[in-house]
Amino acid sequence: MRIILQNLTKCFPSRNKKSNEVVTAVKDLDIEIPDGKLIGLLGPSGCGKSTTLYMICGLQKPTSGKIFFGDSDVTNLEPEHRGVGLVFQNYALYPHLTVKQNILFPLQNLKGAEKLTKEQMLERAQQAADLVQIGELMDRKPNELSGGQQQRVAIARALVKTPRVLLLDEPLSNLDARLRLQTREEIKRIQRETNVTTVFVTHDQEEAMSISDMIVVMKDGVVQQTGEPQKVYDDPENLFVAQFLGTPPINTFDGQIKGGKLYIGEDEVLDVPAVTEDKPVAVGIRPEGFIPNENGKLSGKLINVEVMGRDCSVVFANACSRKPNVRAIIDADLRITTGGENEIRFDVKKNKVFIFDNETGARIRF
Ligand code: ADP
Ligand code: MG
Repeated sequence: MRIILQNLTKCFPSRNKKSNEVVTAVKDLDIEIPDGKLIGLLGPSGCGKSTTLYMICGLQKPTSGKIFFGDSDVTNLEPEHRGVGLVFQNYALYPHLTVKQNILFPLQNLKGAEKLTKEQMLERAQQAADLVQIGELMDRKPNELSGGQQQRVAIARALVKTPRVLLLDEPLSNLDARLRLQTREEIKRIQRETNVTTVFVTHDQEEAMSISDMIVVMKDGVVQQTGEPQKVYDDPENLFVAQFLGTPPINTFDGQIKGGKLYIGEDEVLDVPAVTEDKPVAVGIRPEGFIPNENGKLSGKLINVEVMGRDCSVVFANACSRKPNVRAIIDADLRITTGGENEIRFDVKKNKVFIFDNETGARIRF
């Protein structure tokens, strides 16, 4: 099911009763979610991810704008008629019911033509449980399961009505690191097997990048960029997106454009002939964008080298860096030589350097 969000805006009255201020949780959201894909809705806490998800499922009514499932306008359709399955961070299982009863629950109040016989319901519940690989745990209670297993039950329950759309709101946040990794791969597999259009909400960029066909990066209720994860990483539209994606994060510097060249401090780093105006700019350099070279253009003072098997992390200081340390990730086989007072020099890879407007944060292409 293709989903189209058209100019979607959601305002809330302020939670502070004394203020008349309105909180705009989501502003003019315009995205198309292709059929059968997994979309990662990504951004820091409070940026409007959950509000967007709740508008898609109908738990929240948009202040303005429209929602389409395929060609039909569902903006005013009640949640139970939208055919969406919803999974929350905290599983939200019924503690007094067994796994089987929890999964059966959504099927039991189907009415009219949708009504199922007991046998049909049991078969559907078993299929959903098998899909998420908890088929053997049907008679347990939620408190007899691990967090990862409970989340699988919640996913089975969301899938048992074969929804047109699956919505997951930070579904891995309550799991420990190892289970989080395993469960996210499971979600990807389940999504591929069922082919259900899925929106996966997370504040964790690595999680979103690793499983999504497409990511939507949000900030303060506004979409910043949409696209394939690698494409967005390689070609960020603004400083926020560049900083939000990537571990270790991008290094940022105060830079200066002078006569078609980019300077970081005294160092002339790159030719940027397309930038004609001389002005201060923000410069982002990805950790993998540095090549150690004794005669390289960018200088720094070596602080530390951390060897991590395949790669090593070279930590250095540069007076124009916006953080105390700059971090370069380089091949562990490369030798690093330092000059007097631990001076270290690098060349930079042009495609790993981004320039941004100092006021707006918008990308300046060179
Ligand atoms: P996220 O899921 O990205 O963390 P939310 O969608 O939950 O963000 O919230 C977006 C903004 O809207 C936040 O500033 C939040 O405080 C506000 N908000 C969310 N729900 C309500 C509500 N029911 N009443 C008032 N403000 C709300
Ligand atoms: Mg949320």
